[in-house]
Amino acid sequence: MKNVEHIGIAVKNLSVSVPLFEKLLNTTCYKTETVAGEKVNTAFFQTGETKIELLESAEPDGVIAKFIEKKGEGIHHIAFEVADIYAEVTRLKNEGFILLNETPKDGADNKLVCFLHPKSTNAVLIEICQSKS
Ligand code: ZN
Repeated sequence: MKNVEHIGIAVKNLSVSVPLFEKLLNTTCYKTETVAGEKVNTAFFQTGETKIELLESAEPDGVIAKFIEKKGEGIHHIAFEVADIYAEVTRLKNEGFILLNETPKDGADNKLVCFLHPKSTNAVLIEICQSKS
């Protein structure tokens, strides 16, 4: 795997958290995007080589809403950039990791993404992502 591409943070309300993170990071949010398939609204900040991705549930029954209900707001996942997501899925499966989706799917920010089940990764939700070029 390569660098930490982004850290995903679950928030209740982007209209509150975007200005907060703009102040915190001293940079403006460069993109907001809804990923309909995931029922999530995202907002991105560039901090050096790593991004911060704020995640707000787009629907009351979305995964982010359920996460916040259980755990409250906070870090939701860590995303690693990979050079070849298909090869990485095969490697991780062979190593015994459980993939939430074995077929890469469209994520925010023009990426193909796969998630690993937290029960196989010390309770940390891991995303691997590859830029679609
Ligand atoms: Zn992500």
